[in-house]
Amino acid sequence: MNTMNTHREVAVQFTNVCRYFGDVKAVDQISLEVYDGEFFSLLGPSGSGKTTCLRLIAGFEMPTAGSIRLYGTEVSTIPPYDRDVNTVFQDYALFPHMDVGDNIAYGLMIRKVPKKEREVRVNEMLELVRLPGMARRKPSQLSGGQRQRVALARALINHPRVLLLDEPLGALDLKLRQEMQIELKSIQEKVGITFIFVTHDQEEALTMSDRVAVFNRGKIEQVGAPAEIYERPATSFVAGFVGTSNILSGDLAQRLTGSPDLFSIRPEKIRMTPEGSGASPDPDTCAAVGTIRDVIYLGVSTRYLVEVDGGGDLTVVQQNLDAAPGDVVGARGSRVALTWPRSTNRRLSGQGGTP
Ligand code: ATP
Repeated sequence: MNTMNTHREVAVQFTNVCRYFGDVKAVDQISLEVYDGEFFSLLGPSGSGKTTCLRLIAGFEMPTAGSIRLYGTEVSTIPPYDRDVNTVFQDYALFPHMDVGDNIAYGLMIRKVPKKEREVRVNEMLELVRLPGMARRKPSQLSGGQRQRVALARALINHPRVLLLDEPLGALDLKLRQEMQIELKSIQEKVGITFIFVTHDQEEALTMSDRVAVFNRGKIEQVGAPAEIYERPATSFVAGFVGTSNILSGDLAQRLTGSPDLFSIRPEKIRMTPEGSGASPDPDTCAAVGTIRDVIYLGVSTRYLVEVDGGGDLTVVQQNLDAAPGDVVGARGSRVALTWPRSTNRRLSGQGGTP
């Protein structure tokens, strides 16, 4: 998906949107544009305002202030059923007494679409979500992943312009969840509908999205493509929430980077070698020397906590290319040299501290 194209139609536009519940600022002055045909994720910890944003788009909530537009039309006062939007919920919300076909056709029945056409469209949807021939099963006869696909088919059958998905994979186990992530993305590409996807799982957001908005306490900290969010986090919150980061400030930042500003360094960008074996320093490289205090073996990689001489810690992740688990764990207490390209230091805005 080309997100650089400035001529793309705006599907959803928030301008200074607030939603307060008493003293709680669930959504606090959010401005945001989601483009037509995008897979856009709202990512953030529990309580950061993602679901409230989704409910504002659906029309289940009214903004306390600000403007919400869907394809250019102000919708703040338009009820949910008059918005060209559908929602897939985490608990699927299928009707247990209806079979799969009737569940999927429900929206068409409400609109009094003739039976013949309903059947054709249900079969198209079953093909799309890879459940052909399952129309006469009951939801109780399906696996979790299959039920999720039925919920998706039911939400897509009316061809909404925007599909809202609230943690739809949250109830699935990890392996199925990863399979469904790939499938959901491929379905979205096939139908070309704008998907707005809520998740608290950063890996999920990075895998599936064209762009991601990172939420914190009712505000958006950064909007960008997955690689941009990961490689160039704008704030200490983003650096800490999306992946793991070393966040440096003050004295430690001064010693390691030459500036006391707030910086993040990704642990996998740091190269670790035995002390004394490293190349001589050059202006494009940052360097430190320290002692390994902790080792966490993660299978494909190992995470080391290194106490830097002069004070402060750095987390370093190294791939286990040749190392045996015994060597890795036995590294505790070893003296090491750390180097990383100066260009990987990311200057952050905001105060120090991780989420
Ligand atoms: P989660 O991932 O846990 O669903 P979220 O990021 O989706 O979290 P929201 O559900 O949008 O967060 O909630 C944001 C804040 O607004 C929370 O502090 C929540 O308690 C509060 N909130 C949401 N809905 C209501 C409500 N109807 N009444 C009062 N407070 C609410």
